[in-house]
Formats: sequence, structure tokens, C-alpha cells
Amino acid sequence: MADPAREAPKRFEEMDLSPAMMKALVKANYEEPTPVQAGVIPTALEGVDVIGQARTGTGKTASFVIPILEDLLPKREAPGPQGLILVPTRELAVQVRDEVVKLASGRRIQCVALYGGKPIRGQIEKLKDGPQVVVGTPGRLLDHIGRGTLRLGDLWCVVLDEADRMLDIGFRPDIERILRKCPEENRQTLLLSATVPPPILRLAQRYMHEPVTLNFSEGDVSVETIDQLYFTVDHDRKFDLLVKLLERENPAQAIIFCRTKRGVDRLLRRLSKKFKSVNAIHGDMQQSARDRVMKSFRGAKLQVLVATDVVGRGIDVTGISHIINFDVPEFCDDYVHRVGRTGRMGREGVAYTFVNPEEGPQLTRIEQRINRLLKRDEIEGFDASAPVIEEPKKEKSEAPPPPESAMKRRPKRYRRAL
Ligand code: ADP
Ligand code: MG
Repeated sequence: MADPAREAPKRFEEMDLSPAMMKALVKANYEEPTPVQAGVIPTALEGVDVIGQARTGTGKTASFVIPILEDLLPKREAPGPQGLILVPTRELAVQVRDEVVKLASGRRIQCVALYGGKPIRGQIEKLKDGPQVVVGTPGRLLDHIGRGTLRLGDLWCVVLDEADRMLDIGFRPDIERILRKCPEENRQTLLLSATVPPPILRLAQRYMHEPVTLNFSEGDVSVETIDQLYFTVDHDRKFDLLVKLLERENPAQAIIFCRTKRGVDRLLRRLSKKFKSVNAIHGDMQQSARDRVMKSFRGAKLQVLVATDVVGRGIDVTGISHIINFDVPEFCDDYVHRVGRTGRMGREGVAYTFVNPEEGPQLTRIEQRINRLLKRDEIEGFDASAPVIEEPKKEKSEAPPPPESAMKRRPKRYRRAL
């Protein structure tokens, strides 16, 4: 059963799905299952726990949504939520909720997204209507659990989407608290991600019952249809390079990733003077502003989005043609997720990473992780090195900071900032 090569169904028709689900799939224009769907759906329908790894943009969401929707009990038997989907960000909560609604089309199934930054009242009202499926971010879910507004007694399926992120140190205590409140007996747990590092895989077993591991990205975690390049550029020349690159490429839609929220704000200010269709998103913005920006980006009304890793995971916007890592991501798995916002479902995409001369080791780590070399790119006539002025030596990511006396300017220490 643990063998992904076992007779995987090639068509949804071979999966024994309900007529309502088949109709919803036609309506969604899902003609054939993707490999992860062909592997995970039948396995999950058997009721076993699954750890599923598959590349970005290959339909992991439907692979857990379909088995949940197929096995929902009538409300009179289970009035509380039956499926709980945990996600790391608010924007992803909304997107996954929309996928549930899409796949539940034509049926009386309700799904609610519970996430912070929105008044809790409205969410409590929606919970009173008895949704069968709940999608949420950990903090707000705990809030509802604490208030007694989210009942977990009828839950039989719990999903961790972006599982490695959810079980990574930041979220782990919250996740553990939530899982402790969920029924143990007969609970099915599904974990999905494009990247599942071995320590997380071992940790995951603690929350699962004899999980089946299905890996659809063995040996290569990154998507082949994404062209991946890098520029060597001095720190002070990055902005000018970005302007040149955007002019050269004129992307249909692009995300430019920065490491910090302040970096995002600063870059937005500078870019707005040069380009019209630019906006930003990060975790310090008001939720209403985040929603507005995402709406215009999803609707292709916004061409360039400057962002932190808050949109690094899971976000699915078809029009994204370009990813630009203005700052090299701190963790190489974050690289995989960032560039995975393009090249979804077999589409083409291109990802550029700006690397300053001190960041060679980070580039190498990324190349080792994705098991391929990034190609070097250059812009004709553009000098990527800054004019030589006495520059303090930049700090390498693992090296301890040099003594203060040795620096003119204190190098920034980056933390994961969403
Ligand atoms: P992942 O979670 O693996 O990154 P998503 O679940 O976000 O990928 O799906 C990526 C895109 O593919 C979405 O736009 C989704 O609607 C679409 N999609 C999913 N399954 C299918 C399918 N079987 N056929 C066509 N499109 C699909
Ligand atoms: Mg996903």
C-alpha cells in the first residue's frame, strides 16, 4: 500500500467517487487526476493516515479535500465539524476554503475559514450554522477552541497543509495544543507538503497512526518547467538591477520576495516611483489591506507584488510568470516554495535570485537542495558591482557577528519574518 507505483488510477472515473463529486470535478475543469491526487485520494479513502510529498502546484489541495468531502457523515449524525484543515497563513486559509467550496459544488456542504485579523463575531456566527469543514490558522483556531465556539468532538479528519512549516518550531506548540484537543480514536491525519525534511518526517509520526508515505518528488523537489537563474550583484546595486530586470522582462505578474517586512516597505516605496502596478503584502499590514492586495493580484489587476514569505507557501495565482528573490531566502526549502508560486500545473515560469558576492554558500545550498545548478544571467550594459567605497565586510549567515569595533554599520541579522 505504501508504494506510490501501485496501480494508481489514471482517471477520476476509476476512483469510485460519488456522482456529485464527479459533477464538481467537471465543473472545476479537472479532467484527470494529477499524480499526487491519483496516489493520495484512493489511499486516504481507505481511511489510513498519509504523508504526501509532491512538487509545488501539482494539486495537493484537492488530494485531501476530495477524500474529506466524499466521507462526510450526515449532519444529524455529526453536527460538529468533521474535517479540520490547518494552514500557516490567512491568505492560504481563504484559498483552501475556496477550493473546498468549489469541490463541494452542488451539495449542501458548508466550509468556514477561521483566521486572525478578522472580527471573531462573524466567524462565531458562521460556526453556529454547522459547517462540516473548517480551514484555519493555528492562532485563531486556538482562540475559538478556548471560547468553546469550535467543537471538535465530531472531527474524523485533520489535515496539515504545508506540514513541514506547521511542524517547524514556530507553529509546533500551537499545533500540538490543537491536536491534543482533537479526537484520537479513529482520527485520520493527512500531511501534505512539497518539502518534508527527514526530522519533520520523524516528528510527524508522533501525531499519526502508521502513516503511509507517498513521495511524488523523489530526487527533485523543484518543478522542471521553472527556469531558474541568478544574478551576482552587489547589495547597493540590487535596486537598479531589479528595475532593469523588470523592464527587460515586463512580467505578466511577478512576486518579488524580500527577507523582512521593512525591506518590503522600503522596496515598495522605491519601486512605486518607477512602476505603476506595484503593491506589497506582509504580516504587519492590516488584514483588510492584505485582502485588498491579494484580490487585485488574483484578479490580475496588479502586476508586481513585493512580499515577505507570507505568500511564499501555497498561494496559487495562475498569472504569476516571474519570481524574483530580491533577497536570498534564509532557508533553502523556502526557496523551493517561493519559486513554486510560478510554473504551476505544468505552466512555464521563471525565477531569478539576486546573490551578492558574500552569499555564494547560500546559493550552493539551494543548488544542492534542488539538485540542479542555477544559470547565471546578466543584463547587457549593467554594471552589477557598486563603486568601491570602504565597505564594512558583510556578515555570513552562520558566522557570529564580528566585534562591533570592526564595523562601521551594524549588519542586519535576519529572522524569519512574515
Ligand atoms: P499545490 O498545493 O500542490 O501547490 P494546488 O492544490 O494549489 O497545488 O493546485 C494548483 C492548481 O492546480 C490550482 O489552480 C488547482 O485549481 C489546479 N488543479 C488541481 N487539480 C487539478 C486537476 N486534476 N486538473 C486541473 N487542474 C487542477
Ligand atoms: Mg498547496
